[in-house]
Amino acid sequence: MKIEKIVSVFYEGLEQGKLLGRRCKECGAIEFPPRYACNTCGYHETEWVELKGKGMLQSLITVSTLNADPWNDDLGHYCYGIVELEDGVSFNATITNIKKKQARILRNQLPLPVHAKFEQRDGYKTLFFELDDEVMEQFK
Ligand SMILES: [Zn+2]
Repeated sequence: MKIEKIVSVFYEGLEQGKLLGRRCKECGAIEFPPRYACNTCGYHETEWVELKGKGMLQSLITVSTLNADPWNDDLGHYCYGIVELEDGVSFNATITNIKKKQARILRNQLPLPVHAKFEQRDGYKTLFFELDDEVMEQFK
């Protein structure tokens, strides 16, 4: 399977609200974002697997002028962080709806539960993460 095909299936999945990764047929490791081969054992065959979209936020980085992403200007308050999914993969994600002041408090509570959130942006869906409701309760 060509890498272009993998990328397009991944984005089609997002459109349907599905988080797709690739599972290694040899060792079972999951690649996310999906890649052609397994990074864990180097085996060349991986297969599609739908990920749960739930996990734990492991780190939290507030946005400054240095790392702000112009694509995210209309997002409101957001941070960056490393999300570890229940499926066992970790990656950098954008976490929405966190104010700077909240981030300082939340950082002392890590790891915290997060869930995937698919937002319609410029005609296609983009993946973000959001802290679970019970975590945000403390700010209400
Ligand atoms: Zn493998």
